[in-house]
Amino acid sequence: MEREHVNTAATPNCPVTEPGVAAPIRAVVLLSGGLDSATVLAMARAEGRVCHAVSFDYGQRHRAELLAAARLAVALGAVEHRVMKIDTGGLGGSALTDNAIAVPVNATDAATGAFAAPLAEGIPVTYVPARNTVFLALALGMAEVVGATELWVGVNAVDYSGYPDCRPAFVEAFERLANLATKAGVESAMPHFRVCAPLVTLSKAGIIQAGSQLGVDYGMTVSCYQASPEGLACGQCDSCRLRREGFAAAAVADPTRYLG
Ligand code: ZN
Repeated sequence: MEREHVNTAATPNCPVTEPGVAAPIRAVVLLSGGLDSATVLAMARAEGRVCHAVSFDYGQRHRAELLAAARLAVALGAVEHRVMKIDTGGLGGSALTDNAIAVPVNATDAATGAFAAPLAEGIPVTYVPARNTVFLALALGMAEVVGATELWVGVNAVDYSGYPDCRPAFVEAFERLANLATKAGVESAMPHFRVCAPLVTLSKAGIIQAGSQLGVDYGMTVSCYQASPEGLACGQCDSCRLRREGFAAAAVADPTRYLG
C-alpha cells in the first residue's frame, strides 16, 4: 500500500521547536501502554519535547498495560512517568471497568484466521463514560504543576470504535477549555495550552508506519481489552482486531504476543 505522508510538525498548533531559539517545550503525554500512545510519545520526543508521561489506574481489567506503559516511558525517553489512580470503576457502565459486562469479541474464520464479519457499528460497551475528558483534565492539572504547555494524546478518529471523545472536535474543545480553566491559561496573553493529537486523522496502518520509522518497539505495547496478566492478547476484541488489521495493512510484522 502507499505510505501515508506523516509529518507531525504539521500537527495543528504544535510547531517544531527551533533549536537554540527557545527553551525546550515541556509536554504531558498520556501513555496508556498501547500502540497509539506509544507512537504519540515517540512523536513528541522526535519534535524535541521534554516529555512527562502519565498513565491512569482507572480500574481497568488488567495490569499489563500499566506495566507496559512504565517500560515504554523509559524506552522512549520520558523524563518521568506518573501513574494516577482514579475511580472510574465507581461509574460502572463499561466493559473495561465492570467485570459483569463482557468484552465483545469478533469471530474468526477457522481456516483463514480472517475476521468473519465487519466491526459492529455504534458506540460499543467498551466505551468508558467521559474517559478522555477525565484523563485530559488530570493531565492538564499536571501540566500546570510541571510547567508544560502541551498535552499530547493518542486519540484517533479513523480506525477506532466510534468513541465520541476521540474526534477532532473534542480535541479542539478541550484546548479551549484548558486555556479558560487554568491559572496558567488566564495569566497568559497568548493561548497557553495546546492539545496535540497527531494521530487523529491517521489510519491504524499509518500510525504503525509512523511509529516504526521512529523506532517504536510495538512488541512492548499492550492494546488488548482483556489481556492476560502476562500481557498476552486475546486476538478477538475490537482493539486486537484494529491492531491486527493495522499491522497487515501496514505490511509490518505483527510482534503482538497472542494467547494460545
Ligand atoms: Zn483482545
